[in-house]
Amino acid sequence: MRFRPRNVRSRLTLWYLLVLASLLALYAGVASLFLFLSLREDFDQNLLQDVETVQGMLTKEPNGGVSLHSSHPDAAEPRIGHFIEVWSPQGSLLYRSAVLQDQKLGGPPGPDEGLHDPSPSTMRLPNGTRVRLASSVYHVEDQRVVLRVAYSEEGLWRELGEFGEVLLLGFPIAVLLAGFGGYALARKALAPIDSMATQAKRISAERLGDRLSIENPEDELGKLGTVFNDMLGRLQAAFDQLRRFTADASHELRTPLTAIRSVGEVALQDQRSPAEYRDVIGSMLEEVDRLTRLAESLLALSRADAGHVQLQREDISLRQLAREATSLVEVLAEEKRQRIDIEGDADVLVSVDRLILRQAIVNLLDNAIKYSPPGGRILARVKCGGDKQIFLEVIDQGPGIPSEHQPYVFDRFFRVDKARTREWGGAGLGLSITRWAVEVHGGDITLESEEGHGSTFRISLPLAKGSSTSPSKGGSQ
Ligand code: ADP
Repeated sequence: MRFRPRNVRSRLTLWYLLVLASLLALYAGVASLFLFLSLREDFDQNLLQDVETVQGMLTKEPNGGVSLHSSHPDAAEPRIGHFIEVWSPQGSLLYRSAVLQDQKLGGPPGPDEGLHDPSPSTMRLPNGTRVRLASSVYHVEDQRVVLRVAYSEEGLWRELGEFGEVLLLGFPIAVLLAGFGGYALARKALAPIDSMATQAKRISAERLGDRLSIENPEDELGKLGTVFNDMLGRLQAAFDQLRRFTADASHELRTPLTAIRSVGEVALQDQRSPAEYRDVIGSMLEEVDRLTRLAESLLALSRADAGHVQLQREDISLRQLAREATSLVEVLAEEKRQRIDIEGDADVLVSVDRLILRQAIVNLLDNAIKYSPPGGRILARVKCGGDKQIFLEVIDQGPGIPSEHQPYVFDRFFRVDKARTREWGGAGLGLSITRWAVEVHGGDITLESEEGHGSTFRISLPLAKGSSTSPSKGGSQ
């Protein structure tokens, strides 16, 4: 099973310790190596100097042997742990330090021994002592001898061992202290996350207005907090919109339901003639109609919000689409003796979902009919807007929309004059559905209006690929 601490603090500390311990171990290794090499260099230099000193002290004995002779009484054996052997090239031992006793610095010399630079080498005496040995060839009077001088390396290894012990002893202490320090640092650095988590836990749907407190918005945690707060802001706006939508929708549903109920109750109070009952049923059906339209609009909007609408795009002439929309609202216009004209280029194509965009245009025409006085003229005009865009304008001669209300006309359930527009059946959803339908096709919708001078709603849509704009051919229905 893999060991994996649960919190980031411990994981950070562990990683920190691992890296620190590896670095310390590497440092200790390199430092020991350097210490060893420099100690041994001193050691070798002393050894080579002593080889020369010992050479000067060699004296030939009358019996053919060799002895050490010095003017200084202490210099007979220059150092403790200093071993000397003198051999004849033929392999007979001429001198051996007393301290060596029966230990040997190797056997009889080979033919090349001591001929080259006397670079020291390491060897072990039969009793296990590690020594550093240098050989050189020398002439004592007329006799050629091989001189071997060696030092015990035990002191050097002892020093190195002591150094290693100090390091080993210090290592766990250093790692332990660093561990505590690292943990405390990680704790301090991550403390804002803990406090953010505690604050975030307290934020619920009812407290979406709360925000995380941010100490420093410039650092990484501050940025995270800011992003989180921004997200809360968006969530809050969406929640508020949803709440408003639900409240408005219930209100809109309640009004026709209350109307149906009161009409029914009044009708039941007295005996009435069949004609009166027909009237009652007629007005009830009107309200049911309103309810049905409202339910359809709500359904369309909730589908749009959920993103469940799949566009069935086809290349279609915008003017043709305007004509189809007009034919759907013609009866309403005729009732008010209004005329709907269509103008513009019939060849310019847009790639849209026929039913969805047609409904958008129907909503605009329906409004134009509803809010314009009887006998007015309504114009649906297709206009080219460069190589990539095409406009459809729905222009009426109605009362216009006051400028203070214009920014809100596309909002859900917005009506300029709530009491009057309800009479005409509007719930304030038509324009928001139109805006969604246009935007889902990559276009946009704008309004130009002046109180008392009519309104112009302008839909702008991208041209279908391959469709080009040509000079407009005018025409009216
Ligand atoms: P409704 O279903 O009430 O017509 P809309 O979303 O279609 O809802 O329109 C919102 C409001 O904008 C309407 O209630 C009306 O007050 C105003 N409005 C829309 N179109 C026009 C227009 N052509 N002329 C005047 N007022 C309009």
